[in-house]
Amino acid sequence: MIDAINAIEVHGGDADAQLAKQVLALHDHFVAASTRLVDAVTIGDSAAARRIDLSEAGPVFDAMRSRIDAAGEARAAAALAAFAELQATARWILIESPVIFAIGFALLFGLWRILERSHQAARETYREIAQLSKLRSEFVSIVSHEFRTPLTGIQGFSEMMRDENLTIPEMREYAGDINKDARRLARLITDMLDLDRMESGRMTLNSEPVDLNRIVAETAAQFRLSAADHPIELDLDTRLRDLVGDSDRLTQVVTNLLSNAIKYSPTGGPVELRTERADKTVTLTVTDHGMGIAPEHLEKIFDRYSRLETTETRAIQGTGLGLPIVRQIVQMCAGKVWATSETGRGSVFHVELPLMEAASQAPGAA
Ligand code: ADP
Repeated sequence: MIDAINAIEVHGGDADAQLAKQVLALHDHFVAASTRLVDAVTIGDSAAARRIDLSEAGPVFDAMRSRIDAAGEARAAAALAAFAELQATARWILIESPVIFAIGFALLFGLWRILERSHQAARETYREIAQLSKLRSEFVSIVSHEFRTPLTGIQGFSEMMRDENLTIPEMREYAGDINKDARRLARLITDMLDLDRMESGRMTLNSEPVDLNRIVAETAAQFRLSAADHPIELDLDTRLRDLVGDSDRLTQVVTNLLSNAIKYSPTGGPVELRTERADKTVTLTVTDHGMGIAPEHLEKIFDRYSRLETTETRAIQGTGLGLPIVRQIVQMCAGKVWATSETGRGSVFHVELPLMEAASQAPGAA
């Protein structure tokens, strides 16, 4: 024990060395008292031995023990406190810090998502602005060309009528030209307004019994009067009964497709109109043998003001509104429209509408 106490005195901290010194001093007293006690016992002086034991050896031993016990208790308390601290640290490291880290990470992730979304929205807005700006310049260029041409005609012919001495037949001819140009302007304005109303959802379709075959036949008959180079052939499905639809708008679809088929076959050639009734759909196809459309443009031609600029199309009048109008009407009828084509050999425009015969009720038709 003395070796241990000596070791504590040498290697322990300040408090340990202090305690070891006190214990050693008490130990010296104890050894001295014990020696005297043994001597008294040896000479048979039991009264002295009892006195030494009670007043010297015993108290010194108790003092020594109480110091050691007190130090032990203090150490135990310090160890317990350290353990509690360690526990708290471990709890922080193992439980709380991952939770705080996870919350922090979630906040950062949320922030990143918000930033990403706002960035995305900004990109989207920028794209829309760019698109609007492109549409605006296309609109200006279409308007300046398409409006100017008939206006120039109206201006020129009316000036001639005003300034020249014309015969009645000449007057009639010029008035006819003016009328043609005025109609062209009116059609252009109507198309622009129609498309705008359809795209903004401000146009609703009628739900009335419609005979698609009759619409196709009547439109073809009108075009035959002015398209001698384009024999119009009909192949109409007689199983087609009255449909529920909007007669005027379906006429507009057939008119625009047939007009294009003739316009974009400048060297003439037959145009075929075909209807077919299937289980749940009705299909209208318009086939021409004209200039055709390159595969990369088959989608784009349905966009507003989209005109294909080639040497062949340059001389052909148009506004780029016919097909977007067709697409809007067909989509409002819950149908679809697409084109297939072979450049230089002709095009086929397909319109597929859901079969809603007049006897059954049209779902969702306005
Ligand atoms: P446009 O008034 O110019 O005819 P459309 O929207 O009807 O406007 O057509 C868009 C473009 O699609 C046309 O300018 C033309 O280049 C092309 N197009 C449409 N129909 C045909 C067709 N039958 N054959 C070849 N090209 C066509």
